[in-house]
Amino acid sequence: MNEIDNKQQKVTAPSLTGRAGGGSPLDLRYLRMARIWSENSYCQRRQVGALIVKNKMIISDGYNGTPSGFENVCEEDGVTKPYVLHAEANAITKIARSGNNSEGATLYVTDSPCIECSKLIIQAGIRRVVYARDYRLTDGIDLLRRAGIDVQHLPIEGYEE
Ligand SMILES: [Zn+2]
Repeated sequence: MNEIDNKQQKVTAPSLTGRAGGGSPLDLRYLRMARIWSENSYCQRRQVGALIVKNKMIISDGYNGTPSGFENVCEEDGVTKPYVLHAEANAITKIARSGNNSEGATLYVTDSPCIECSKLIIQAGIRRVVYARDYRLTDGIDLLRRAGIDVQHLPIEGYEE
């Protein structure tokens, strides 16, 4: 019991001060917006939202879901379909269809990126990643750090782990 209480305190404490985890008030607001954006996801298991910000402008957004033209169902028998795109991948590929680019941008994402998305993040020229919820696997985050990307874990309210 004590262990759980301690863990929750540790996770939620930075969100009260905002700057404790190195995140600015602006970082918190963008991350909250990413959380709201995740509500667009029709996935049942986990709803993930992402925003890409460059020069204080939101240049792209994404949430996890099936590719354009596919039915809006992510799971089959409770298992996520292999062709579901993650929020980060949707946000990055949306830029590929726009006149913008993500060079030097910041990615705000509700959940810590997986290794597949981390590869895309690196290749997209994104320099900073701010996320709210930790995932049990850290290989994605480890890869981002290896690539010299500034990674920040910034817990926000509503995501008590
Ligand atoms: Zn991913």
